[in-house]
Amino acid sequence: MIDRYSRQILFHGIGKEGQRKLGNSCAVIIGCGALGSIIATTLVRAGVGKVRIIDRDFIEYHNLARQALFDEDDVKNQIPKAIAAERHLKRVNSSIEIEGIVADVNYTNIEGFISDADVILDGLDNFETRGLINDVSLKHKIPWIYGGAVSSSGMTMNIIPGQTPCLRCLHPEVPKGARMLTCETAGVISSAPFIIGSLQSAEAIKILVGSEYINRDLIFINVWQGKFDRIELCRRPDCQTCQGKYEFLEARFGTKTTSLCGQNAVQVLNPDVKEISFEKLATHLRPIGKVSYNEFMLRLEVDNHEMVIFPDGRAIVKNTDDESLARGLYAKYIGV
Ligand SMILES: [Zn+2]
Repeated sequence: MIDRYSRQILFHGIGKEGQRKLGNSCAVIIGCGALGSIIATTLVRAGVGKVRIIDRDFIEYHNLARQALFDEDDVKNQIPKAIAAERHLKRVNSSIEIEGIVADVNYTNIEGFISDADVILDGLDNFETRGLINDVSLKHKIPWIYGGAVSSSGMTMNIIPGQTPCLRCLHPEVPKGARMLTCETAGVISSAPFIIGSLQSAEAIKILVGSEYINRDLIFINVWQGKFDRIELCRRPDCQTCQGKYEFLEARFGTKTTSLCGQNAVQVLNPDVKEISFEKLATHLRPIGKVSYNEFMLRLEVDNHEMVIFPDGRAIVKNTDDESLARGLYAKYIGV
């Protein structure tokens, strides 16, 4: 194994001792799209002893432009991302443990997924699940690495429980859905998540080997404008999560889904969205699907699905009884 990692061991920041620590560590990656692909491949190649990858989606052709772990066969064979990631990565490094789990991470199951984690990495596209990661990170004192990329920009920060600000120190209020950009409405170019994912895995490796250079700022990049910024952050003294109130884990903010019996439809309720501007939402959604609205509802047809959104943020996803799929579509297009 020394030979496999010889160049990394030569690097002064890691060395033999750092490599041994990596081999004894467990990293959990939640979400395996563009960010998760880069994070997973980097950590597996670096020899992190156990890498767990959790994702709820299948692979589609439009993922291949930036989700570096997947190929056309995965799309043709309808392989879930977590399984495809596990298969590809096991061929890269058979000397470590790689576990792909197909699941919708929520407040009922997240603690089981992270119980043995030394670090948690965010490869997600929605605030709700990030809020959950933030809660379990602080509750169980496991560092997590936030990362997000949309359009040509991205950001990342480390949350080290008890030392750095947490996600809720930055966002005491949950960002409202209709104002958030998503990759489905604003687009994304691959270099943004590639850079952010690389920074996230570098931070994970530093955390796992106990480096003194662990980043404590918010790092922001824009590859189109060639901008790289670093913003110093402070802990918010009145942050509820830092004081041990885990609102996402206690499901107070959670998106609720209900399968509508006999209608082949799922209702998605999001208590954090109070009011939606159909005019703004329609502007975001028009490039990706067929949109129509009146004062009572907005109708979106995209990828063989039909979604009806109400002004209070409630949505009905038609032609499915799969609650996890409905939550996913809501997160994609409404943005929470
Ligand atoms: Zn906090």
